[in-house]
Amino acid sequence: MCAVHPNAPSVVTCRRCGRFCCTNCLPQFETCPECVARATISVPPIEGRATVAMVALIASVGMHALMAAVACAQLATGDVGEEGVLAIVGGLVALLYLVVFITTIVLVCMWFHLATRHALARGASMEVETPAAAVGSWFIPFVNLARPFNLVRRMLDSAGLDAGAVSAWQVLWITGNITANISSRVGGMGGIGIGLLSDLFMVGAGITFVQIIRKLKWPPAAALVS
Ligand SMILES: [Zn+2]
Ligand SMILES: [Zn+2]
Repeated sequence: MCAVHPNAPSVVTCRRCGRFCCTNCLPQFETCPECVARATISVPPIEGRATVAMVALIASVGMHALMAAVACAQLATGDVGEEGVLAIVGGLVALLYLVVFITTIVLVCMWFHLATRHALARGASMEVETPAAAVGSWFIPFVNLARPFNLVRRMLDSAGLDAGAVSAWQVLWITGNITANISSRVGGMGGIGIGLLSDLFMVGAGITFVQIIRKLKWPPAAALVS
């Protein structure tokens, strides 16, 4: 029988304290409500870092849209030479984008770190043991094609939310990166055309990621205990 609900049969034991739990106790978590409350009390709320990360991501999306607009103008006017006005404008936009992109990486990593703490505190079984390892998974070649996205799926699970949007974000992000890589190797109109595609994929990836961050909030621990 469940330790909290005497009439309910226990189906699992809490991963942390070993107490018998029923399905009421563990709707989506792998530790009991009391263990969740104890673990989450020391984790700061996610909202602040979520807002900052979303603002940075929206700025990055804006930069990709701007780069796409420059590419469209280049394709429309045929002004694709290295010395062309549009090439110079494009170069300045790309430089500004680099600054925005690096800032976004830092702010999103800070969000990712805290979001991992929340999920781990709720007993989510992640592919990593620590928030630092979760952040690090973004920077390991090939691992970063799957693990960060799997971690976000588990974060959403741990908050009782649908993780369907993660696959769209993953496909857009990876396709955007591959096409950006190809575009930098292909010169002329072809390269600009592929670069335009890449920017559009990145706009889609950024918007999808912002929606995931906005959605990803955990119910307060006190609400779980009652
Ligand atoms: Zn427990
Ligand atoms: Zn119970």
